[in-house]
This record gives sequence, structure tokens and C-alpha cells, in this order.
Amino acid sequence: MSQPDETTIAAIATPQGYGGIGVIRLSGPASLSLARRLIKSSNDVEFLPNHSAFHVLVHPETKLLIDEAIVTYYRAPHSFTGEDVVELSCHGSPVVLAEVLEVLTALGARLAEPGEFSLRAFLNHRLDLAQAEAINDLINAQTAYQARLAARQVLGELSRQLRPIKDGLVDLIVHFESTVEFVEDDLDPLNLSIFLGKLDIYIDSLERMAASYRVGRIIRSGVRLALIGLPNVGKSSIFNSLLGHERAIVTHLPGTTRDTLSEALALNGLPVNLVDTAGIRETEDIVEKIGVERTRTAITEADFVIAVIEADSLLLPEEVELLEQFPVNLYVVNKCDLGPTLSADRIAKVAQGRAVIEVSAKTGEGLEDLKQAIYQTIVSENQNLNESAIITNERHYRALEEALAQLRRAKQDLQAGFTEEIALDNLHLALRSLGLTTGETLIGDIINQIFATFCIGK
Ligand code: GDP
Repeated sequence: MSQPDETTIAAIATPQGYGGIGVIRLSGPASLSLARRLIKSSNDVEFLPNHSAFHVLVHPETKLLIDEAIVTYYRAPHSFTGEDVVELSCHGSPVVLAEVLEVLTALGARLAEPGEFSLRAFLNHRLDLAQAEAINDLINAQTAYQARLAARQVLGELSRQLRPIKDGLVDLIVHFESTVEFVEDDLDPLNLSIFLGKLDIYIDSLERMAASYRVGRIIRSGVRLALIGLPNVGKSSIFNSLLGHERAIVTHLPGTTRDTLSEALALNGLPVNLVDTAGIRETEDIVEKIGVERTRTAITEADFVIAVIEADSLLLPEEVELLEQFPVNLYVVNKCDLGPTLSADRIAKVAQGRAVIEVSAKTGEGLEDLKQAIYQTIVSENQNLNESAIITNERHYRALEEALAQLRRAKQDLQAGFTEEIALDNLHLALRSLGLTTGETLIGDIINQIFATFCIGK
């Protein structure tokens, strides 16, 4: 595994461009001495006081004034990276920040690689890999929901939930190892049932965590939500209304939307990828035919399907039959401004217990209710959306699935009457797989690859 090196690294930690303040971060043994070379009054002060202070920064060679900054010193090991860290909060001018960084590198600091501060924090055991990855997720969050979930994981939620399982596995391994060494006989049936009971508990917990990946993927990448229906029922109009701008072309001509269109939006902080589809109907038009095929693909890929019907339609049996082919989660009755032809009974019969929302894409009536209904249905269909240990990261998910497979195999072997030695192999492997999530059992190259996806200064 990579080791922390003794160099002192520096980077601009705030985004490029102009801003109220811009922060330069230093981490490593020379952080304090390098920062003091820039501070005008530093010859008079023995130490920089811990935490905040105003300081005038001057160029160490030319003595020309650079900026006035707040300099914060975090003494090792009580810092993010576990090393001496200094943060210079300058005025947010790219020119000032570039000059400060240039001076620091001329004095011996090295420009930090992407994610190198977090890598150092990980290598110095200030956080585990799952927490470091969550920081990256938090920085890159597109919606409040994603940010909230990532923030919980920054605090170590995943590691906390895995800890009792790992400890339990270590106990089992220790017990089995000693049995293998000292006892010739088979496991006695009472002990065997206790061990199997423990394995069941671990398998059950891990299965619940792995199952949360569906929700985790939704939060990380967005719910794929497809709008379907016959041509001209108002799918594109609803698509535009939910987005709040005219993205899809709306005409009175059936078959205008010939391809699937996709746009991102947030519903109560939940990320959604809204997909407008070509109307479903039998057609001879070759382009429209391809569009209808794409609609079918979009529906199979969707997490959530909304079927749109017209308030003033007859809702013919063919239409119902067409919609019933698909896994519809919610019905929308559009064009309510035209007055109803469809009776509530008729709609209820088609919806079969699924939510029905009446809207008018033209007047905007019912659109807020529609948003709430989509959100509520998604939340109620994914109960653990509000649970804390949700797996959002595919790497973690795969590690949990591996551990599960190994524990199931260990259980089968014990049940089949094989020796503990055989079960031990799988218990060791399961422990190793769980360690992949938090980084204990990952090799250095993979760790470096993970941190390379972070931004510079983090
Ligand atoms: P799509 O083919 O299902 O995507 O339907 P469009 O969104 O293109 O709409 C078809 C036609 O219905 C257009 O002329 C729209 O202006 C009209 N339309 C859509 N929504 C409403 C509505 O709520 N009320 C009324 N009166 N007309 C609507």
C-alpha cells in the first residue's frame, strides 16, 4: 500500500475563478515554516497561533505586498490529513492565489495531485476509504438528497454498520482456528447450531445492505422516470411543465416526438431523469416505428413509469391493453381543462389501485400534486430511502455481494458436515471482501486510482 510521503503539498482548494475568498492548503511537515516565510510579521512571532489570525502576506524575495489573509494552522495529528496543515484564506482573486502558490512551490512545496489530501488522511487513518469516497460524493452531489446521504457516510455510517459483522467474523475465525489445531473431533451439534445462527444474522444484515443498492443507485444517478401513452395525450407538454421550460416540441400532430428525450430535475431533492417517449401506437412510418421501439427500451430501463391518458378520451379497450403491457407506477389524466369524459369509476378500474393524478399541462392545474405523488410513490416503493446505511457505490456493492456469496458457501459447507477448515477459507475471504469497502484490504494501485478521481485540493 502507498505510504504517506514526507513532502509538503500545496493546492488551491477553492474553485477556479473569482470569489470572495480563495483558499490555499498546505499539508506536510514544512507547512508551517513555508507559510511563515510569506507572513510579514512572522519574524516577530515564535508560533502562528492555533486557528485564525489576520496576516499580511508579502513576497519573501521582493518584499512586495501580496494580500491580507486569514492563516489557520492545524497542528499534526489534529488536522484533516493527520499532518501539519496550514490554510491561507486569501481574497478570491486567481492572480493572488496563483502568486501565493508559485511562492510556496518555489520555497519547496510540491503541487498536490487530485485527491492527495484525502489520500494522506486515509493513509494516516484519519478516515477510512468509504468515508473518503463519501467526501468526493458530497462535493459532487447534484441534489440535497445526494448530499445528505453522502454526509452521513462521511461520518462513517457504513463502516459503523459493518463493524459488528467484521468483529463477529473474526471471533468465529479465531474459534475455528483453535478448533482445527486442538480438536480432532467434529463440531458438536450445539456449537454448530450457534455458529450457523450467527452466520444467518450476518448474512441477513449484509443482504439488507446490498438490497439498499437499488435505492442507492437511484439517489446517486437519479430515478429513471418514463412518461408513456398514446400519441397526442400531452406527454411532451407534461415533460416541459415538470422541467419548467420548453424542452420537447409540442404540436397537435400525433407522432411529433419520434425519439426519447431525457432531462434531469430534482423532486424534493431527489434526482430524477425524466424521459419523454414517442407515443405508443401501431405505425407504418419507419422513423416513428424506430421511435416506438426506443420507447419500449426506455420503459424496460425505467425505474418508474407514468402512463398519461386524456380526460376527454374514450379510453378504448385497445388503449388500456397497450398500457397494460407495461409496469405502470402511476396514472396521469391530462387535459382536465377540457372537462371529463372519463368517469372516475372507469379510471379506477384501469389504475387498479395505483395513484391517479388529474392535471392540465395547459393551465398548470394539478402539476404540484403530480410532483408530490411521484415523490411519495418513489419513497413508499423504496422503503429504505430514509435509512442511513444505503449503499450508493458500486464498488462497495460488489464487495458486499462477494462477502455474501462467501458466507453462504461457508454456511452450506458447515451444514453439509465438512470440517471447519473448509469453512474457514470462506470466512477469511468474506472478511477480506468486507475490508475492501473500507480500504483495509485494498492494494495500493487501486487506492491510488480511486483518489485520482477526486478534485485537486481535496
Ligand atoms: P404528446 O404527443 O403526448 O407528447 O402530446 P403533446 O404534448 O405534443 O400535446 C399534444 C396536443 O395536446 C398539443 O396540441 C398540446 O397543446 C395539447 N395539450 C397538451 N396538454 C394539454 C392540456 O392540458 N390541455 C389542453 N387543452 N391541451 C393540451
